[in-house]
Amino acid sequence: MKYRDLHIETQRQAPNNARTEGFSLLVRAGYLTRENIPTKLGEYSLDHLRELAVKLGDSFLSNIGLQAIGNGDETFFLIPSGSIEAAYCPSCKYTERFEFARFQKIPLPEEEELPLERILTPDCHTIEALANFLKIPKEKTAKALMYTRVSDNKFIFVVVRGDMQLSDAKLKQSVGDVRPASAEEIANSGAAAGYASPIGLKDALIVVDDLIPRSQNLVAGANETGYHFKNTNYERDYSAEIVADLVQAKAGDSCFNCGNPLSVVPVISLSTSIEHNIENILLALAETHHDDRGSTFPQSVAPFDVYLMHLPGREMDTRAKAEEIYNSLQSAGISVLFEIQRCRSDRLPHPRDRRRKGIKRGDGRIEIA
Ligand SMILES: [Zn+2]
Repeated sequence: MKYRDLHIETQRQAPNNARTEGFSLLVRAGYLTRENIPTKLGEYSLDHLRELAVKLGDSFLSNIGLQAIGNGDETFFLIPSGSIEAAYCPSCKYTERFEFARFQKIPLPEEEELPLERILTPDCHTIEALANFLKIPKEKTAKALMYTRVSDNKFIFVVVRGDMQLSDAKLKQSVGDVRPASAEEIANSGAAAGYASPIGLKDALIVVDDLIPRSQNLVAGANETGYHFKNTNYERDYSAEIVADLVQAKAGDSCFNCGNPLSVVPVISLSTSIEHNIENILLALAETHHDDRGSTFPQSVAPFDVYLMHLPGREMDTRAKAEEIYNSLQSAGISVLFEIQRCRSDRLPHPRDRRRKGIKRGDGRIEIA
């Protein structure tokens, strides 16, 4: 494989839009444009990484010196500019996309089931208003969310504990794609918006978070505007077709595996079980392997084994010797980035003087094998 003209444009200054050190370094070294588009050098390097990934198979990521986190399905790299949030346990290394993260749910102390009681709760459309009005913690309430399944228009009634947030991703995993239920669909089921509960509904698929069966005497809607039920209990007052983990984790929740606190961290995805994200892998390499002067990629991932620059001599022709070295390295199977300075054309000063004058490198002809 041979490139005649790579047009490498190195940059002295970090780009204004540099969100991370690695991105800045890839732009300055001429791998990426400031708009994050690979240059010819970038494409060459990405192709090199793709070939290496095929060659190394499963051991690819561990062999290129990346500190990755992940699980059997996906591998991530921690980076402040990461667009994905992951839940991560620093103790046991449990890692999951935030929306799917599991955690240990701590039920409130078990209570004896008390009789169901209908109570007047004016203007309590939200969990906050309800908890304030009754002077109870949100943990003692049941939050209702109503959807319609896209595939068959089935009315889906979801219950999670009042202090918790539904994970749309987990709900989708349990029941398929949903959309918010319309006012008409809510009314048809017998529910009352703002005062809804699963008690006494018709034609509803009831789905509850797995903490609900372990929570006694929750306050839930009475399906009548202005009223709630005190002391609702799963199984006694209603049951569900699906009991599943439906709620979002948050930073500090207990790791599902080991009980230590979970962190929520920004990441980029490096690989799934199906494919690698090679652009992200190049960025992760640049983040990981550099010093204050530039990238220090491990030899296996560096786009070239050798950088060879021909400097024109003032008294002798060094070009022939440089070509000879270039050819012999190539014959030995060593990849070379060969830069030939065109100073003898008199259009450009000597490289030493160019550096002094701040002229950028990369305006010479470059050959790559
Ligand atoms: Zn853990």
